[in-house]
Amino acid sequence: MSKSLPKDALKNKSEMTPLMKQFWDIKSLHNDKILLFRMGDFYEMFYDDAIKAAPILGITLTQRNKKAEDQTPMCGVPYHSIAGPINKLLAAGLKIAICDQVEDPKLAKGLVKRAVTRILTPGMVYDSDTLEATKPHYIAALDENSMSFVDTTTGEAFFFKSQDKSEKIKILHVLPIAEVVINEQAVAKDLLPENFDKLISKHTVMIDIKSETPHSAQLLQSYVLSLADENFKKTLRPFVEKNFEHRLQLSSDVIRHLEIFETYKGQIEGSFFSAINKTKTSGGARLLRNWILFPLRNQKTILERQKLISALREDLYLIKKTRDVLAGLGDIERRLMKISQPQTNARDLVQLADTLEAGLKTYSMTQMILNENLNSELILEIISEIRKTINDQAPLTVKSGHIINKGVSSELDEYIELSTSAHLHIEKLEEKEKLATGINSLKIRYNNVFGYYIEITHLHKDKVPKHYQRKQTLANAERFCTDELIQLEQKVLSAQTKRNDLEYFVYETLKNKILLQASHFLGLASVCNQIDVYVALAWLSLEESYVLPIFNQDNQLKLTGSRHAVIEQFNRGKFIANDIDLQKSDCYLITGPNMAGKSTLMRQAALTVILAQMGSYVPASIATLPIYDAIYTRIGASDQLSEGLSTFMVEMTETALMLNQATGQSLLILDEVGRGTSTFDGLSLAQSILEYIISEFKPHVFFASHYHELTALEKKHENIKNVHMKIHEQNGEIEFLHVLALGPAGKSYGVQVAKLAGLPPKITTRAAELLLGFENKKLNDQAKALQKSTTYQMSLFDGQSQLDPKKTALLEELKKISISQTSPLQALNKLAQWQDELN
Ligand code: ATP
Repeated sequence: MSKSLPKDALKNKSEMTPLMKQFWDIKSLHNDKILLFRMGDFYEMFYDDAIKAAPILGITLTQRNKKAEDQTPMCGVPYHSIAGPINKLLAAGLKIAICDQVEDPKLAKGLVKRAVTRILTPGMVYDSDTLEATKPHYIAALDENSMSFVDTTTGEAFFFKSQDKSEKIKILHVLPIAEVVINEQAVAKDLLPENFDKLISKHTVMIDIKSETPHSAQLLQSYVLSLADENFKKTLRPFVEKNFEHRLQLSSDVIRHLEIFETYKGQIEGSFFSAINKTKTSGGARLLRNWILFPLRNQKTILERQKLISALREDLYLIKKTRDVLAGLGDIERRLMKISQPQTNARDLVQLADTLEAGLKTYSMTQMILNENLNSELILEIISEIRKTINDQAPLTVKSGHIINKGVSSELDEYIELSTSAHLHIEKLEEKEKLATGINSLKIRYNNVFGYYIEITHLHKDKVPKHYQRKQTLANAERFCTDELIQLEQKVLSAQTKRNDLEYFVYETLKNKILLQASHFLGLASVCNQIDVYVALAWLSLEESYVLPIFNQDNQLKLTGSRHAVIEQFNRGKFIANDIDLQKSDCYLITGPNMAGKSTLMRQAALTVILAQMGSYVPASIATLPIYDAIYTRIGASDQLSEGLSTFMVEMTETALMLNQATGQSLLILDEVGRGTSTFDGLSLAQSILEYIISEFKPHVFFASHYHELTALEKKHENIKNVHMKIHEQNGEIEFLHVLALGPAGKSYGVQVAKLAGLPPKITTRAAELLLGFENKKLNDQAKALQKSTTYQMSLFDGQSQLDPKKTALLEELKKISISQTSPLQALNKLAQWQDELN
């Protein structure tokens, strides 16, 4: 492969070309970044930068100085489509320094001057249009007592105080974080686990210890402003304090297990978010994400949200109208932030006006319901000024004129007139020259190198007048100028330059005015986001027939006709609703074969709780819930082998975490705990974990298991309720009814499910035989063990004068049992009953 960065590159500067010397002078100041070095119409990358970037961008790595000894690996991207490549590099965790030509190449004497004009880091986005619209993009900063967040694409800024490292890491895992900033002197590992290493940026700031703003917020603000320009400062919102402790706690594991934002396969479709997201704007979707991530625990706030949704449900016409307006609203926050970026253009201002207009319409339509106060007049004024000033067909460049409407400035109008009428003069001159020379195909054209010129094809070479001055010869034509054309050109160009400059000035002035009012627009954005979410949840509840949940203080979870918010949308009309009834500290011990619907039932309960505590209606016909403090899940065998953890280790680590943190107010969901190890290990662990949970902290529990042995626990623990998913069995064939019923499941049906899955009959017939053998053996072993223990008991009793009547009855019963007519399950149940009686 090509050579990497030469170690002696700097030493050999004297032998370098002036261009490479300039490159190295700049690169040496930005060793930690990819330097995008502007050359003509391309941004080039050299040496290690090129080697790193080429595979990320999917472009070819080439060589400069191909024949020379010091071949230079390089690759490049066109300057006009730089946004995509930049975001790819940032997403790969790289930092970028953009090095531009800072003087006009036409005017440069010798090498064009270049300088770094912008630095970008993974959190400082170049073009938010290339990001996922419904997901925030946070830079976080940490110190020992607090953590802070800024979304540079929306201006959102908040912090929360906590000295608990694990608490902070939990939040970092839950929020979408692009970069984490820590103080230059801080030791990263004291603050963050290793898997954040790649995201860390170090920064130094003089902390104002007297300030009420936490250190992490001061650090973050200083970091962001060190990378952005003045304009960005105007759009950054003040840091607000948030309190995550009083929210329903959902860890990143729970979010993954419940497939909240993506499915196990990494797809958005099929996730809970995509099923319930009926918002019409990206800002609304981002807020909804937030509501899902941090459901409430304060009943009063939950009821306030419910009240608004209920009020909207009463007015279908309003919902429909608002949704129509929201559909054309766009993204106020990101459009505004775009305007604070150096590469913004006049059309961005027009788009902002469009979005603000729709925003105000939304606000006025729903003002009665949301009751927020905004300065609509000021926003209207700005909208009208943008409309009046900016040409809505403006080009994407801001320095070449044609962006400002006529009538904005009389001085500008003069230049516009002059430059456009001068163009007419050019056209007239062209006509005149055509007539004078008799060359009909004569053209007056313009390019950046020669300015205006007359072009005549070689065919008419002989007719060219003497006073034409030759400028350039092409393959099929010749280019000339005349004194008259030169004079005209100066007139046109000077009017054009003045016009361009003045248009740019007017545009910049308006842009600054807009940015100074940023807080008003962000206020409107926040109102629109909320309206979008409320309307979306009202719409969802109507469309999907959700019910208003009622909260109780008696720790009762009673869901009648409960459904799974996601699966019911994929199985329209076919989803079987179930009733769930957990009283104080109850545990549902769910048995039933694979595919019967155990996981679905447990997840639907968890998703219903999240919806309820978000303030939303829920998928059920009647819903009464307690307010939970957290949901914990131990579901499925999600491998993290890449992180060096075996499936069983993951299972136990997650269970341990759950047991350390859960309280009596939590909802616990455990799906097949213990299945990652041998049967007896697994069974023993499953039983002891379940016993521990129900006796130590008594939360609501859904515990699904294939260990039928556990169903005997119902007799010992009054809080355990055996339930199962019903199956219809006929002639060895089974059908899943997806109906939840009281009592334990009859058997496992593993072989039948395998048959349904299409395993070759040879295998399933053999498996059925083996199963019968194993069951008989188990039964015989159990009978033998029982007999042995009875003989032993008898020998003990022999020495005693009188036998306990209870024990005599038990022995009598044992003698009478017909082993060939007893199933393993009946035998086990019997054993458990006797053991109970003897104890
Ligand atoms: P396993 O033990 O293999 O995980 P399970 O008992 O947990 O199986 P689920 O994964 O919950 O079964 O459900 C199996 C399939 O049955 C799901 O894909 C779902 O589509 C369907 N299903 C589950 N519950 C219902 C229901 N109430 N109504 C209709 N279909 C359902």
